[in-house]
Amino acid sequence: MAKENVIPMIVEIPKGSTNKYEVNEVTGRIVLDRVLYGANFYPGEYGMVENTLDWDGDPLDVISLCTYPTLPGVEVNVRILGAIKMIDNGEIDTKLFGVFANDPRFDTYNNFKDVPQHLKDEITNFFMQYKALQNKTVRIDGWVDEKEALHELAECKERFNEYKERIKNGEKEIIKEEWKVKGLGQA
Ligand SMILES: [Mg+2]
Repeated sequence: MAKENVIPMIVEIPKGSTNKYEVNEVTGRIVLDRVLYGANFYPGEYGMVENTLDWDGDPLDVISLCTYPTLPGVEVNVRILGAIKMIDNGEIDTKLFGVFANDPRFDTYNNFKDVPQHLKDEITNFFMQYKALQNKTVRIDGWVDEKEALHELAECKERFNEYKERIKNGEKEIIKEEWKVKGLGQA
């Protein structure tokens, strides 16, 4: 039986990439959003969980350790070990954190505390720096455990169910504006 903390992630950006791809929620296509302004690269496989909605109007993000990069659009089972609490330009923008469930090199990682500190520092540092040349600030409020991460995931699934029709109609920006007026999802 699948463990509840193993969830499918859709890879958007392979580890090592400086191209920021994302899945378009209306067309389903993988689109180049931008090339990172600085000489930075993603320190893990980066993607999202389908049928979720975070406060930035996008599906919940995931960053996962991997040994060998995959490809945009690939579905990977990730063992969630925690989450990184992030505020991106004033918006709550949490990242789930995990490891490839089907890579035995990570079999001993069952909690984010099992992960070498330097690997976590690299990820934290990446997110703090990757928008610097766009004059945007990202604040990291710290790492939380698997329990909190799964709670966040459940909330994002619920939110998606509430808004899915409107998201498919391309109303993301309107929804975000409504949240802003209500003070929802703001840091
Ligand atoms: Mg996001």
